[in-house]
Amino acid sequence: MQKQQNIIEESLKALMEDETFLPDLQAQTREQAFKSLVALLSTPNHIHKSFLRITLENGTIVRIPSFRVQHSDTVGPYKGGVRFHESVNEGEVSNLAKLMTLKNALHELPFGGGKGGVVINPKEYTIKELNLICKKYVQYFEDILGPDKDIPAPDVGTGEREMDWMMGEYKNTHPGQPYRNSFTGKSIVNGGSLGRREATGKGVYYTFRYMMHNYVKENKKWLSETENIFANTALDHYEQKLTMAVQGFGNLGSVAALEAYKCSYLQNKIVAVSDHNVMIYNEDGLDIPAIVKFTKENDGDLPTNEEALQNHDIKAEIRERDDLLTLDVDVLLLAALEDQIHEDNMEDIQARLIIEGANGPITEVADKYLADKGVLIVPDILANAGGVIVSYYEWIQGREAQFMTEDEVYQRLFDRMKNTMDTILPQFFGDPFPLRQNSYIHAVMKLSTIMYRQGKLY
Ligand code: GLU
Repeated sequence: MQKQQNIIEESLKALMEDETFLPDLQAQTREQAFKSLVALLSTPNHIHKSFLRITLENGTIVRIPSFRVQHSDTVGPYKGGVRFHESVNEGEVSNLAKLMTLKNALHELPFGGGKGGVVINPKEYTIKELNLICKKYVQYFEDILGPDKDIPAPDVGTGEREMDWMMGEYKNTHPGQPYRNSFTGKSIVNGGSLGRREATGKGVYYTFRYMMHNYVKENKKWLSETENIFANTALDHYEQKLTMAVQGFGNLGSVAALEAYKCSYLQNKIVAVSDHNVMIYNEDGLDIPAIVKFTKENDGDLPTNEEALQNHDIKAEIRERDDLLTLDVDVLLLAALEDQIHEDNMEDIQARLIIEGANGPITEVADKYLADKGVLIVPDILANAGGVIVSYYEWIQGREAQFMTEDEVYQRLFDRMKNTMDTILPQFFGDPFPLRQNSYIHAVMKLSTIMYRQGKLY
């Protein structure tokens, strides 16, 4: 499944039709350049696949499929997370690697795009086995990884612990060589950055707040032009409190929900959160800190029955997990996996603003349907870049062996996200493209210019 293909082509077409873009490119070569760029951007440079040989604690030997896809190194070393999930497959990792190329380009990071994956459900393995899987991952891919070659980071199913283990193994397999920046998202004692753990969730919430405060609220013109989005009473409604539902309560969803809960001046109300088991719902708003506390004590899972809710004094009801997507809320934050909104449920979506915390949570068909209907979608490469942006700061701090305070990290994170939004949003309000197209056009413009200047289009 070749995702993002149409939108990459559309973005390139729009660029090639604009004569101010690469003006020294001759008319007859514009068509050629278009074809070359489509080929270069839609295909990864390398797909590495290995079957990790793991001896389980009970003595059985298993082979675990694992991937590292290196999509593009045009802008810098390959960069992107490693996902541990049972649904991982080559096509998915390739699409995610491509998204990393676009995300890094959009936010002006000096990185290309890559992604890794291991086909396991981490909850089914012991700590010792997970440690072995991490070590083997590094051993099998030792030649292609490195601080200036390809720098993995956490993703779904991985975190600081796995990055520490992997960096430790990289150090063993590359004696005498720099190793700290071989992985980002490490723990602080191992050279990680303050704020990295919360960066994606905080960045997602920051994006939402910036959009609301600086554009939606102040841009009354936009509101009246798109009455169908926020209804006639849009502004009043906005000032009253927006209702929000959060799909996914892992590192991203829980941090973003907590930020929304704490942000008193916007007074948003989170009425529902869900995980892989259930949705918990309260129309008056959920006590997010109490829920976060519960998940910390329960292996990351939300309460699944009334008793657990009562014992922890959480006022909410348990509901069917997937019903969260079709709740009548103002804002939907998607913080789980890809392809959550698709042809079968798109017509039932009621939210007027959807923020893509996860990568690729809306299928192409559903994206078009919702955008045509006037739903404002804040795309993944714009909204969820907080993680990789702070990975970049971790990488810089590791090189300089000097560390920033948490406040400095967040300040720089928000400044960078603001800069990107300021580049994208004015055009969004002034031209016919939805936000996703604008984000892609900017990313593709940067990549095409660099490729052209590097002589890659001959
Ligand atoms: N996995 C995260 C993402 O999808 C972070 C990647 C990184 O820090 O390199 O953006």
